[in-house]
Amino acid sequence: MSELRQTRATCCYCGVGCGVIIESDGRQVLGVKGDPDHPANFGRLCTKGSTLHLTASPVLQQQARALYPEMRAERNKGGGARERVTWDASLDYMAQKFADTIARHGPDSVGFYISGQLLTEDYYVFNKLAKGLIGTNNVDTNSRLCMSSAVAGYKQTLGADAPPACYEDIELAEVVFIVGSNTAYAHPILYRRLEAARRANPQMKVIVADPRKTDTAREADLFLPILPGTDVALFNGMLHICLWEELIDTVYIEAHTEGFAELRKTVRDYTPAHVAEICGIREQDLVAAARLFGQSKASLSLYCQGLNQSASGTMKNAALINLHLATAQIGKSGAGPFSLTGQPNAMGGREVGGMANLLSAHRDLANADHRAEVATLWGIEDVPGKPGKTAVEMFEAVRTGEIKILWIACTNPAQSMPDQKLIREALKKAELVIVQDAYKTIASADYADVLLPATSWSEKEGTVTNSERRITRIKAALDKPGEALHDWEIVIRFARKLEALLDRPRTLFPYATTEEIWNEHRESTRGRDLDITGLSYRILEEQGPQQWPYPQGAAGGKKRLYEDGVFPTSNGRAKFVNTAYQPVAEPVDARYPFRLSTGRLRDQWHGMSRTGTVAQLFAHQSEPAVVMAAQDMERRFIKEGDLVHVTSRRGSQILPAAAGDDMRPGQAFIGMHWGEEYVSGRGREGEGSHGVNALTLPAIDPYSKQPELKHAAAKILKAELPWRFLVFGWVEPSAVLALQASLRPYMRHFAYASCTLFGREQVGVLFRAADDYAAAPQLLAEIEAKFHLVGAEVLRYDDKKRGNARRILVKDGKLAAVALAGDTSAEHWLKQYLEEGQAVAALGRLLLMPSSQAPQGFKSRGKIVCNCFNVSEGEIGDTLAGMAGDGDACLAGLQDKLKCGTNCGSCVPELKKIIFAQKISIKAAA
Ligand code: SF4
Repeated sequence: MSELRQTRATCCYCGVGCGVIIESDGRQVLGVKGDPDHPANFGRLCTKGSTLHLTASPVLQQQARALYPEMRAERNKGGGARERVTWDASLDYMAQKFADTIARHGPDSVGFYISGQLLTEDYYVFNKLAKGLIGTNNVDTNSRLCMSSAVAGYKQTLGADAPPACYEDIELAEVVFIVGSNTAYAHPILYRRLEAARRANPQMKVIVADPRKTDTAREADLFLPILPGTDVALFNGMLHICLWEELIDTVYIEAHTEGFAELRKTVRDYTPAHVAEICGIREQDLVAAARLFGQSKASLSLYCQGLNQSASGTMKNAALINLHLATAQIGKSGAGPFSLTGQPNAMGGREVGGMANLLSAHRDLANADHRAEVATLWGIEDVPGKPGKTAVEMFEAVRTGEIKILWIACTNPAQSMPDQKLIREALKKAELVIVQDAYKTIASADYADVLLPATSWSEKEGTVTNSERRITRIKAALDKPGEALHDWEIVIRFARKLEALLDRPRTLFPYATTEEIWNEHRESTRGRDLDITGLSYRILEEQGPQQWPYPQGAAGGKKRLYEDGVFPTSNGRAKFVNTAYQPVAEPVDARYPFRLSTGRLRDQWHGMSRTGTVAQLFAHQSEPAVVMAAQDMERRFIKEGDLVHVTSRRGSQILPAAAGDDMRPGQAFIGMHWGEEYVSGRGREGEGSHGVNALTLPAIDPYSKQPELKHAAAKILKAELPWRFLVFGWVEPSAVLALQASLRPYMRHFAYASCTLFGREQVGVLFRAADDYAAAPQLLAEIEAKFHLVGAEVLRYDDKKRGNARRILVKDGKLAAVALAGDTSAEHWLKQYLEEGQAVAALGRLLLMPSSQAPQGFKSRGKIVCNCFNVSEGEIGDTLAGMAGDGDACLAGLQDKLKCGTNCGSCVPELKKIIFAQKISIKAAA
């Protein structure tokens, strides 16, 4: 038996950057636990992190992973299957195509679209390949969709892209101002720290500003339900009140900043009444928020995509930082504007300048001196000065033919980019699309002419940087699977081939290890704001994760920045930006009256290429939906679960409607994760609908070029699709993802279709479809056959006149698979019977009766709230019914009896919500 190994790494999901210990036998991951010594999480993990080992299970990996290079014969571009090739064949082909295209059309005819999931070393070599060897700045990343407004906001105000606070400040703050962030879902372990800090310091106040009453907002001392996109007005209004009530720090402003006089004139117009009207909040709440923020000894802001994903994202970031500067809430314990990073290594990417407008070590492409410094470091003549194309611009340039070769690494733009119509036209138009990824199941892989298999979490080694500027060295627990290579290895093997074709006398890529790459990156930071010349791989391994800056000779990294009031600007002063409120890029109107927003679900991550392989992670939100206010649904005669057309000016997607008590009338919300891998349909012209980002807007911020993913004008109309079809069943673990992939083409045969997973110990697949007419029996039979609903052992019921049909497969006295067509109203109990493995022998005719009637004594469990211990709404409700005491006592009682909320804690805010609702309803009944 192989020895159990423990390997230190980080969770590969969000920017909290939790440390994990991977347990493996060297061939497969056996378990994962939080690293008790990692300063980001001290051993805790959320639902996503604690199920990482399940995503690495060999049966899933075999189905989903790209394991060898594949190439489509050129004559078949845009069609035909890819064939397995050798690494040399694929890289030789690519190098020749690059050389020819660059010779004919210049270096800007190629582009790289990379990812905040890459490690710093991977990022570094991609950047050097584009800017150093090829001579194009067309290298951008999915961090553009995530953090670029935070970057621009920091740079315009504080002079450098450096979050000045640290996680410890959450414990030291008196007031925490959370804005544009559902921290409880998006950064759960930080939220756990905030919960603990509030318990330790009951005087601490939490203010949340968000258009939705999220779990985070629900727990705030003061909630400001601002209208989407009105953040700048809010911050200017708070500053106006701080000015009026003399809560600003004139000494600090005088000593450490510039530009306040101009801003002061602007914010004069942001009177409380005016701002309350713009933001749609109560004036007294605005005043209360400003007073809390301005009077506190330490105010800390936590913010994320609600500020960043906006056509005025830079101004939103800058306006919030203005507020901190004016009140001197920066550079001291428990204070500062702290942008929470979305992806695990968006920070590392920013450090190496892996974006179209940046250069290594926080240098600016627009700065000739910076370009010269980087050229010297790399030993090249120059770095091109022409700005590269940013994410949306890059795909637009591919669509127009300006960029002919697109290399996509570690990201899935056919799911995550806004305006999917544009993205897909671009991917079809490109002369060559290269997709370098660990997963071959992502939607973008469908467009790949060359598919390059890359290593993934638990196989990679290098470094990442989290939201608080902390660098962690991660090590590989497993060998590379199949023929997969590390991302950095793929780049340097390609680069050397291209160098040979370009007749370069020496290589720019002499590295044999990630450490050699990292050491070059380290040298590039010398004297810069993020100087890490005092760090080494050895220090990171021996002393654990460290924060930057950590210059040569330093005894340690810096916890928080600007404690001396000196900023990395030309004169050492921070700069107030004169921020004025701009309405959203696409306001609602009579035709498109809904303010549509997108965001994270609790248990899923980005495009779900990883979390979407784990059935258990679907339990909390089992299927895609558009969430609306109950009043809007009533007014439109839409009931819970009814299908609706959600339509924007760019596209349409049919979805089930769900009432959300977190929504104001006129608002709608869709989880950002639902791409065409999980929800689709025929689409307008039969070309397929492409999930949530068929609807979103490609409008970009003028400074950060970040697209406005958080707001689009939409209309929502009930979909009249009377015919329904549903099939679900247990599937062999080794066939789950293959089944899901094989069902994808079928989704486009129906007006609406979704395909999701369910289950826990066993894995089930659920395929749902709806249309305005009954589908051809042959089509249904093909789908049913994939669930083994064929042959004599299948129980059948057909009512051709009414269009109703049932297929039931029973194995060992329990349901194994079910198909319902026409009347699908028995789904609720049949699915629960299947999931619970209940015996069905005694049910007799009920199994085939076309009605919703459930067996006697059946009780629905409802949604799973606690994923760790599989605790449902029904069980929580039943347990609460017999409980007395206040909210805290009920929570403790639930935790004691059901264990819910006692492991990762992700469900605690929802448990509190349920307790609160139950108390209210008991009071009302009394
Ligand atoms: Fe991973 Fe959760 Fe930690 Fe984020 S908070 S890094 S998703 S374990």
